[in-house]
Amino acid sequence: MVVTRFAPSPTGYLHIGGLRTALFSYLWAKKNGGKFFLRIEDTDKARNSVEAAEAILRAFEWLGLEHDGEIIYQSRRDDIYAAYIKQLLDEGKAYRCYMSKEELDALRETQMANKERAKYDGRYRDFNGIPPEGRDSVIRIKSPLSGEIIVRDGVKGDVVFRAEDILDDFVIARSDGSPTYNFVVAVDDSLMGVTEVIRGDDHLSNTPKQIVVYEALGFALPKFNHVPMIHNSEGKKLSKRDGATDVMAYKDMGYTPEALLNFLVRLGWSHGDQEIFSMDEMIELFNPKDINRSASIYNTEKLDWLSSHYIKNMSNDKLAKLLEFYGLALTSHDKKEILLDALKDRAKTIKELANLIGEIVVAPENYDEATMTKAFKGEAVDVLKAFMIKINSSNELHLPSDYHHLMEEVVKEMEVGFGKIGQPLRVALLGKLSGPALDSVMAIIGKDETLQRISKALSAHSSI
Ligand code: GLU
Repeated sequence: MVVTRFAPSPTGYLHIGGLRTALFSYLWAKKNGGKFFLRIEDTDKARNSVEAAEAILRAFEWLGLEHDGEIIYQSRRDDIYAAYIKQLLDEGKAYRCYMSKEELDALRETQMANKERAKYDGRYRDFNGIPPEGRDSVIRIKSPLSGEIIVRDGVKGDVVFRAEDILDDFVIARSDGSPTYNFVVAVDDSLMGVTEVIRGDDHLSNTPKQIVVYEALGFALPKFNHVPMIHNSEGKKLSKRDGATDVMAYKDMGYTPEALLNFLVRLGWSHGDQEIFSMDEMIELFNPKDINRSASIYNTEKLDWLSSHYIKNMSNDKLAKLLEFYGLALTSHDKKEILLDALKDRAKTIKELANLIGEIVVAPENYDEATMTKAFKGEAVDVLKAFMIKINSSNELHLPSDYHHLMEEVVKEMEVGFGKIGQPLRVALLGKLSGPALDSVMAIIGKDETLQRISKALSAHSSI
């Protein structure tokens, strides 16, 4: 069975880089009918926060990414880690090191002066004398001193590390007994039965250390897949300014989960030149072997394009539900269908859609003189007046086509082009020269409001 996991450290919000590896892990588990677990790596008490862990869970909920089983919190597993550390000590695969901070600093300084890599020199590796009195000890794992550690990576191929370049007998438990990062990651991935690790390639250099832990404990290695980073358009690591913000900020900006997940799956993974993927398609088609080997580029226009695609194709019921987030109660509005049909292909985000709705349902407060002068040329005033008479004398005005019909009648009777009514009417109704179809706008705001807006515009125009 394929078992994957997402293992965020709750030091901040979930950002899109993390979410992307979570999505990849989720898809690969689902595709294989496997399990996708969530593990909160909250051992760093100084940097972790409960709020950050909760924010991560909220983001998962918003996106509909469900994890299997119970969430694992590393902070609750001290006993488990302690048992494995004891095992390694008992087997002579780990040992206590009594080096003081001063000794360690002195060693570092000498190494740096000699332009050597700073690393522990192994002085307690074979120590079996009497420990220096009153000294705390850390526990170090015996790592290979020479030879190669090969990370067989599903994305990058075999990555070869020379033990002497990257390893030393690194600390697996601090002097207060608390286990260190690489140790707990390896222990947990094994105990959780993780078969495939999919994570950012900023973790590639940790992997040899984790492999040392796996081997010391006699655990089977999972398959590693290290995903290249997301870059901005200048080829640099994505910063907050570029969009590496809290995933929930995308909700506030009005993106839908469908659009965001589709956007993320294409950042670093491809299936031919297909751009649009439903969740089912992602699950069916995703395979870590198709993850690109080079960094991917974050592109806001692409996100906007996907977002408008999903909005355009979304049912009005679902849109109405999403609009509630912006304080709009359209679910049982009698003009919901006309309104959303008229606007859904004009909005890049749900927030924009909410604004567009606002621009229709709220009458223009005042009219810009220049815009008005531009739109009210020639017979405009007479055409609008004639249109008002038509509206007044029609009782059955409900659908956009009812209004459209009246507009047609007016231009025909007055022998003018359609633009002669369109431009001034648009400004009268919306206060600007662009916007959705006018017949829909009138159907949405209704007969009385239409008349009021036109007469308000006419009097504003007469006082210019
Ligand atoms: N906790 C690590 C992080 O948030 C991820 C560890 C892993 O995926 O192995 O970067």
